Amino acid sequence: MPDTKLIFHDNKFFGFSGSVPYDAEFKLPRALTPDEMAELTRKYGIEFQLGLEIHYKTKHIGSYWLFTGLLTPSGTGAVAMPVGRNEWDLKDIYHTHLGDSAVPSEEDIKSLTWRFEQGIQTEAGLIPAGEPIPARVVIYYPNTHLKDYMPNGKYHQPRR
Ligand SMILES: [Zn+2]
Repeated sequence: MPDTKLIFHDNKFFGFSGSVPYDAEFKLPRALTPDEMAELTRKYGIEFQLGLEIHYKTKHIGSYWLFTGLLTPSGTGAVAMPVGRNEWDLKDIYHTHLGDSAVPSEEDIKSLTWRFEQGIQTEAGLIPAGEPIPARVVIYYPNTHLKDYMPNGKYHQPRR
């Protein structure tokens, strides 16, 4: 595990102390804001995901964690948060997309649907990092399809 750390001063976030390891996780002292998440993606060119530990039994809240993406040959920088660890489920708060892609991927919906079925959450957010500040959080839902979303990310209930 590389020795890179997250830098916080007076609760303000200053990024990483060194190069960002791909496919890694960092415990956070607080949640990162959508703007902080988008800034990381603009700076490092990969996706980031914010997770929150929820105790699987008592439902107590644990720590926030930041997950870093993996630079794939296709250059999507996709991030994949684990479903949980030990006695903690990981709630998916939001993750960034490179550029202005505001539509959840099939993987995003699949992963959220699994968490929905486990009773962890009913919706999640994505942040198109290429859009202007302030960053926008686009909400998506379990058991939906790509075609249920407008290009701007807005969900429209399809006729079934
Ligand atoms: Zn995504």
